[in-house]
Amino acid sequence: MRVRFWGVRGSTPTPQKENMEYGGNTSCIEIRTDTNQILVFDGGTGIRLLGNELQQEFGDRSIRAHIFFSHFHLDHIQGVPFFRPLYYPQNHFTFYFAGRRDAHLVMDALAGMMANPYFPMNMSKLPCSREYVDLVEETFTVADTRILVLPLNHPQGCVGYRIMQDSKVISYCTDVEHGVDWSDKNVVTLAKNADFFIVDSQYTPEELPGHVGWGHSSWKQAVESGIEAGVKQIALFHHDPYHEDGDVEKILNDAQKLHPNVIAAREGLEVTV
Ligand SMILES: [Zn+2]
Ligand SMILES: [Zn+2]
Repeated sequence: MRVRFWGVRGSTPTPQKENMEYGGNTSCIEIRTDTNQILVFDGGTGIRLLGNELQQEFGDRSIRAHIFFSHFHLDHIQGVPFFRPLYYPQNHFTFYFAGRRDAHLVMDALAGMMANPYFPMNMSKLPCSREYVDLVEETFTVADTRILVLPLNHPQGCVGYRIMQDSKVISYCTDVEHGVDWSDKNVVTLAKNADFFIVDSQYTPEELPGHVGWGHSSWKQAVESGIEAGVKQIALFHHDPYHEDGDVEKILNDAQKLHPNVIAAREGLEVTV
């Protein structure tokens, strides 16, 4: 499988020159399976760039992609209206969310964001074809992969994903606050022996006490959960909007002292698993 990071910033886009090394777009990652199927995790502002890339790649050919949401906080959905492949009738998208047992939830969340008075184009008028899938919290098969989905501790809820193809495992656990037993266990289950662990690392340990209840982790908690799960490589993700490149660099240096194979996710980075 191949992972591409299209948006790595947490909470809000930060398009400013001090952040250009790691990037200012919010959460969006793409996974290409070994059979070249397209899985997308979250629709933050990074998904706009993914849309451009897909249109270059496919031209007039039909684009089919599976788009999974961790949750519906704005930084994880706000790029969707600007994902241009939605505006072409030959394209087909399946949108997934888990855990609420309400098939309308995904559709309502996306449509709500595009409704009057927030956006000029109503979602129901989009020319592409679409499906909405409500996942239960278990393992399911999609696009030649097995995917486990479990809830994580975060205000208004969030889910993490474990994506498995053949013997390879990618784990995507963003927007999670540690210190709640069931959720901490779910992080470890989702990441168990993963080849690549993408994880919420928003704060420094010093910043954490001032952000209890905000739903995020320190880089240290992120790395410790990776160590507990025995992962091979860790990607620090969901960088705080107040952390400039130098801050992320320092976090990365500190994190690398705890685990030999840590990277900081940055826009445009491609990792083959
Ligand atoms: Zn977020
Ligand atoms: Zn969130």
